[in-house]
Amino acid sequence: MSALIGVLALQGDFAEHVQVLDAVGGRARQVRDANQLEGLDGLIIPGGESTTIGMLMERYDLDGPIRDLAKHGMPIWGTCAGLILMACDVGRQQPLLELINISVERNAFGRQLESFEVSVDIEGISGGGFPAVFIRAPRVVSVGDDVEVLARLDDGSIVAVRQKNLLGTAFHPELTCDLRLHRYFVGMTEAV
Ligand code: GLN
Repeated sequence: MSALIGVLALQGDFAEHVQVLDAVGGRARQVRDANQLEGLDGLIIPGGESTTIGMLMERYDLDGPIRDLAKHGMPIWGTCAGLILMACDVGRQQPLLELINISVERNAFGRQLESFEVSVDIEGISGGGFPAVFIRAPRVVSVGDDVEVLARLDDGSIVAVRQKNLLGTAFHPELTCDLRLHRYFVGMTEAV
């Protein structure tokens, strides 16, 4: 039986993640309440507006259960706003899951570069550069000892990290036709 991956479906581009999961042969489930976390092999927190998703996670009592699952080793992957929500620090007050030992700067790439695509080499992803789409993206500004840096831009900005079962990318793999990162994440759920 293929992995059952939840996609947090409160706000943002969850539908695109569901489509890509279907394409890589995973089973996807949209998650809007804590009961829907039951029986998952992994969880994706999509891009969108991190403040809104964080507030809705608290309102629907999803934040505590997601923290518990992360502590018990369930693979969780945050993309863009999802990465922000998984960070321990974003330099301002907003609801966070505080799962990955990193500091993040929101909207880090300036106005003229609010959206761009660039090829990025990612540790653990073979087959050449990954087409990374950045949309009002964050960057990781510091990482704890237990955090692996998986990718940097040419200017040194950290844009992909992993801390054991937790994966974070500042860009949006679900908006490209490149399935390698979703396959990598499904692989993480199968390795548990
Ligand atoms: N700028 C958004 C935020 O800070 C993230 C953008 C995105 O997810 N594409 O929440």
